[in-house]
Amino acid sequence: MSGRLVGGLDLGGTKIQAALLDEKRAVLADTRRPTPSEGGPDDVVDALAAALGEVCGEAGVEASELAGVGIGSPGAIDSERGVVTGAGNLPGAGAPIEMAAGVLERTGVPAYLGNDVNVGVHAEYVLGAARESSSLLGVWWGTGVGGGLILDGRTWEGRGAAGELGHVVVKRDGALCTCGRRGCLEAYAGRGAMEIRARKLAGEGRKTDLFQLMEKHGRTRLQSGIWARALERDDELAIELIERALEALGAGIASAVNLLDVETVVVGGGLGTRLGEPYVQRIREAMQPHLFVDERPPDVRLAALGDLGGAIGAALLVPGKR
Ligand SMILES: [Zn+2]
Repeated sequence: MSGRLVGGLDLGGTKIQAALLDEKRAVLADTRRPTPSEGGPDDVVDALAAALGEVCGEAGVEASELAGVGIGSPGAIDSERGVVTGAGNLPGAGAPIEMAAGVLERTGVPAYLGNDVNVGVHAEYVLGAARESSSLLGVWWGTGVGGGLILDGRTWEGRGAAGELGHVVVKRDGALCTCGRRGCLEAYAGRGAMEIRARKLAGEGRKTDLFQLMEKHGRTRLQSGIWARALERDDELAIELIERALEALGAGIASAVNLLDVETVVVGGGLGTRLGEPYVQRIREAMQPHLFVDERPPDVRLAALGDLGGAIGAALLVPGKR
């Protein structure tokens, strides 16, 4: 096959999504495989290499034909050294993972590392819902609430930790967050926090189908699809918790907009993508009372690249021919 091919790997807590892009950035093939749930850093790198091998096989190309592979990873990213630390949801419990060197060693393909939310937001900026904007806030609504910023056409990383929308305080002395602080947006809207609250309330005798649906679908966690099904059934507890999440999202996103006045807000992430446009509309409505310039709200859009956005964004990390 001729032309420049690049791979992208989106490393999540439960799955690795792989994509192969041609020189026009069209997706030639995509595959997914589970993230290892046991072992250590080596097992993560093995799985990434295997995912790359699978997607190449799917497209009928050799890994040696690739110009490079990008990896979007959770945790703290040292993109220069290609090392990830503190990714607590991956095997090894946050131990350093030499991802770029490990993937190069196993596949022969040069690997480039980026933050999973930032690469997903960047993909929406280059190819997705925010193509016409020069400033945007990406809201990745999933297990946590991730944020990514592009200001004046450039990813804004601050001193390395910008965009932590999930830890914007929406209620002083409010609910306990996974970060150990109180009142963060994520403590209300993160799927992890919503599940903890659902379990507590169900334990206190509140009626809900959430956990029956979870078991019926062979899950051990309340994944996005379970929330979506419960909402379709008008499950009262699910509705109550989602409304609580939407209120918090409205306040948190509007506060960020008051500070930055971005043109576009893109809503993605597992839950955002699964619940789709009707819930993006609910977010718009929940933001409105908190917007300082309320007659001119930003464009709030659903992520256009869906589930593949992370892998596509990761592929965009591979430097182009100059
Ligand atoms: Zn927090």
